[in-house]
Amino acid sequence: MKDNKRDYYDVLGVSKSASEKEIKSAYRKLAMQYHPDRNKAPDAEAKFKEVTEAYEVLSDPEKRKKYDQFGHSAFEQGGFNYSSAEDIFSSFFGSGNSFGGGFGSVFEDIFGFGGSSNKRSHKVKGDDLNSRITIDFMDAITGKTEKIQLSKSSKCSHCNGSGAETPSDIIKCPKCNGRGQIEQRMGFFSSVSTCNKCSGLGKTIKTPCHNCKGSGNETIKSIETITIPAGIKNGETLILRDYGLPSSNGGENGDLYITIAIRSHKHFERVNNDIILNMPISIKSIILEEVIKIPTPYGFKEIKLNRNMKLDGVITIDNYGFPIRNSSKKGNLIVSIKPYIPELSKRDDSKIKEIFENAKDNDYKKWLEQF
Ligand SMILES: [Zn+2]
Ligand SMILES: [Zn+2]
Repeated sequence: MKDNKRDYYDVLGVSKSASEKEIKSAYRKLAMQYHPDRNKAPDAEAKFKEVTEAYEVLSDPEKRKKYDQFGHSAFEQGGFNYSSAEDIFSSFFGSGNSFGGGFGSVFEDIFGFGGSSNKRSHKVKGDDLNSRITIDFMDAITGKTEKIQLSKSSKCSHCNGSGAETPSDIIKCPKCNGRGQIEQRMGFFSSVSTCNKCSGLGKTIKTPCHNCKGSGNETIKSIETITIPAGIKNGETLILRDYGLPSSNGGENGDLYITIAIRSHKHFERVNNDIILNMPISIKSIILEEVIKIPTPYGFKEIKLNRNMKLDGVITIDNYGFPIRNSSKKGNLIVSIKPYIPELSKRDDSKIKEIFENAKDNDYKKWLEQF
């Protein structure tokens, strides 16, 4: 997956062969430098998140190995969870109040979790999107990969999400003078309301970013390959994290829910993980105990018929149904027999009649006598 994320090694300013110690000390330096509690530059918060994310991956040998092999796409489907950043940061610097501000509030402010009601910092996740993919019955058995075009909203690469052309274009809101609130006096009374020019942020943008027109987001289109697992059921959904709509205030993107619809098959019918097949079988094949070919989703299977089989019964072929998810087993193929009398020439027909006319049919008589 391509996005505009910077290489984690570049973010920490270390080489690909950097030792754990080097990574640790690079992170310490950068985290202190960009911590929004100390650094008031508008992009400090984004930088701080970036270095914490890079550290989270590179400090873990497992994750680092994955990242070296697959790049950012190794972590695409889970996504970096910012709520874990508090733990990462605290475990690194200890849980004391190194900055004098208290980590709880710092992290509530930065990452927007916890009970903070401060509008400036309460980040809202973007809306989820829904889409639908229709696949063939056989694809649901084997699983398939599908290439689809997706658009993903991410932070504008020019302004890093601030929406301003340059950091100095973020200015104090002139209407509320940076307070975020407006006080109105009517005689003895005064009321306080949120500034409508800056929505309470206290800051406005002088020159909007040319790249994103001030929205802070840019949309990157890409063709992605999604994997539809073998055995998927009609109506199941796959979730692509982060492919939903962007947040209105710098929070996480929403997710994309893809509902899988499965076309019905002309002959096979799914019941849970079993497949039912109605199959015409000639009486002749049964009497002669022939070997017949049964079509299965995995090719033809030869079965020798038995004269003693129940004509209204089924032939069950174990392990020829749908793959059972998270298991090496499959459901069964259940062949429901539809016996028929084959067409015969006049000569053969009279021969058969002759045979049956002379046959003893005691089963039927015995059964009738019970009434
Ligand atoms: Zn204002
Ligand atoms: Zn921009």
